[in-house]
Amino acid sequence: MNAGGLNAGDAALQRSFPTVMVPRREPGPPMQSAGERLLIGENGVFIEIDLPWLSVVRRVAHYTVPTAIPYGRVVESTVLRCGTVPPELIGDFVAMARAAHPLETGAWIVWNVETKQFRLAPVRVLSQGTGTLKYERPELFAGELRVIDCHSHGAHPAFFSSTDDEDDRQETKFAFVVGNCASSVPSMAMRLCAKGIFEDVERVPSSWYAAAKLKEAA
Ligand SMILES: [Zn+2]
Repeated sequence: MNAGGLNAGDAALQRSFPTVMVPRREPGPPMQSAGERLLIGENGVFIEIDLPWLSVVRRVAHYTVPTAIPYGRVVESTVLRCGTVPPELIGDFVAMARAAHPLETGAWIVWNVETKQFRLAPVRVLSQGTGTLKYERPELFAGELRVIDCHSHGAHPAFFSSTDDEDDRQETKFAFVVGNCASSVPSMAMRLCAKGIFEDVERVPSSWYAAAKLKEAA
């Protein structure tokens, strides 16, 4: 709760990003609406991000002093509310990446919260090179949310560059890169980006490689 008389600007900021003292003897209060909050637990400080397609809890700070904090334990969690992304859409993006090779390109895989359907939405490319891509976000229909931000690396391998880190720092999404785009089996890298937290996905699903495999010309 805000102290009475807090100025309007800080009051609005605190409403948009509240802090919860995690109870020991019962579950913490659910989030009132989509967004973010801090959870203070006995085992550290955590960020909780709750979106229609994703819920994530991650520790963002440890205590540096072994002092007793009379709150409950927080457990990190990930819930992919949108379900599994169809591998065919990865295949479709790889086809786009091959067509653009050796230039980079990009697209979003979006999920419609009303219809529960996924779709590949190409970005509006402003300029593209063999190591650069400038783009505008795709136009989305009502109810569509970005789940995976895809881009390609042309002839270069798939990895997350320092430019990618800079681009991804503020956002909550999966980031996906396709590289070696002329190869029949391109390289792929994926990570979860959650407000500055980057977690590499160790193994991209094998169904994605299958969907990306270049079909032999008949
Ligand atoms: Zn990149």
